[in-house]
Amino acid sequence: MKIKNITKLSVLSLLGLLSISVISSTCSNETLADIYVRNAHVNKTNKIKNVIMFIGDGMGPNHVDAGEIYLGRDFVFSNPNDSKWSFHGYQNTDSLTSVGYTLDTSKSLLRPELNPTLYDDADSPYTNGGNASGNFMSDTCYTDSAAGGTALATGYKTTNSTLGLNKHGQKLQNLVEIAHSLNKMTGVVTTDSLDGATPSSFLVHVEERHLSSEIVDQMMVSDANLIIGEKPSVWSDTTTSNYTLNGWDVATSLSETNPESNKEVIVLPGLVANSHISPSLSDLTIYAIDKLDNEEGFFLMVEGASIDKASHSNQTRTMMQELLDFENAIMTATKWAEAREDTLMIVTADHETGGLYFNRDVADQTNILDEINWLTYNHSRTRVGVDVYGDISEFVNTYQEQLTKQGILDEGMPTQSPYYWDNTDVFRLAASYL
Ligand SMILES: [Zn+2]
Repeated sequence: MKIKNITKLSVLSLLGLLSISVISSTCSNETLADIYVRNAHVNKTNKIKNVIMFIGDGMGPNHVDAGEIYLGRDFVFSNPNDSKWSFHGYQNTDSLTSVGYTLDTSKSLLRPELNPTLYDDADSPYTNGGNASGNFMSDTCYTDSAAGGTALATGYKTTNSTLGLNKHGQKLQNLVEIAHSLNKMTGVVTTDSLDGATPSSFLVHVEERHLSSEIVDQMMVSDANLIIGEKPSVWSDTTTSNYTLNGWDVATSLSETNPESNKEVIVLPGLVANSHISPSLSDLTIYAIDKLDNEEGFFLMVEGASIDKASHSNQTRTMMQELLDFENAIMTATKWAEAREDTLMIVTADHETGGLYFNRDVADQTNILDEINWLTYNHSRTRVGVDVYGDISEFVNTYQEQLTKQGILDEGMPTQSPYYWDNTDVFRLAASYL
């Protein structure tokens, strides 16, 4: 499993936390895109033109390890012996709402029994008597999916609940818009409602994640060529006719789609409840790839949304089903990508949900579902994985001079390396290969 793969971490340590100084010195979205897209002198010598970002909503490193124990094999994206999945690291998910809360890096979800102060909420068995330091799970210090998604989609941290805007309310250009400006096809696929925070982060600029009507309105004028997810509750017949008037093809099942359409929205009733049954995320992903694949390349975001939902309710078995569905979609995409040399894939999460942990000395394939414990019904500040398919050495080399030392990592994580990524670095990686 990836935490044991120390050699890959030397690459991680080179990359580290990238170029906050560059970001803070930019004053417009155009400048941001200029820095990271092609002008970054990345991708001049290789063939990458497609970028697929997989986001396992709420998928922390313990989720991944538990899934691997359940299957009795490495996940396709975290297999240290697969050289095409060339990079395995971790990123800090904090949003601007986390600012002011100290992240105690000596504490880790991986061995919570060693860290009785890990959870600082009064109702927790891990309480330390009301300490509000906000280490991993205090109610107010972790990111939500809106700020987490915005960081991955735009390269800027923002405050919780905010979609595609900075803390001053200014628009942040997202990966869909950047890819579209490069004449690439773009798509967003989610097992959540279309107005969910993660897909919305890649499509709209709205100050509050619960403003569903405004979110859907903005999606109707977004640059995406394909949007797939559950039909939002605010979606009406008027919405459908407005979309159609704006040039969109609207489908309500995978069997009535128009593969020739380059402006298609697929709203699937019941997707959230049945997301691991049919259609699977794998089905949706391969449909999207087939549609978006073209000469100029494409950007696609695929979200496994219900890992988060099941983790919020601490439903171990449902979480595992959703996690395996997510991994299966990545396996399908990997098989597609292996037949070519033009595709970069990134697997990460917006945050961890549930404070999932288990005793590694006891857990095995036969008992893992019973061994899984949860520390919270909320998110945590635990770092999440970043796994990359494709050669990103140019990216690493280009930004090597911008490394920033960040401090030690969690116990059980790569403590040999004093460096780790920020969530905004994931955007920079994706943008650099568009
Ligand atoms: Zn989330």
